[in-house]
Amino acid sequence: MKQLDLFRKPRRPAVPKPRTLHVVDAGLPGPGKRHPRIQLECEVCGHETGWVAGRAVAIEQKGRVCPKCKGDPANVKPSAAKEAASAS
Ligand SMILES: [Zn+2]
Repeated sequence: MKQLDLFRKPRRPAVPKPRTLHVVDAGLPGPGKRHPRIQLECEVCGHETGWVAGRAVAIEQKGRVCPKCKGDPANVKPSAAKEAASAS
């Protein structure tokens, strides 16, 4: 059995990824379709996902991590920030 290394480097701290992607519109699926269709929009960068397959309501209410900005305003490009400001 391998001995645990007591002097290994500490783990890097977890990076916070706020869930800024929230549902802005939702639609019922047609017959035979399992998942509802939802649209999500990011509060930080204004990224819209378009219509995607939604999961359970309880899961979607928590929001998702934005694939564009990861919830960090520092990741938002200036041009995208202008679009988000004019859209709201
Ligand atoms: Zn975003």
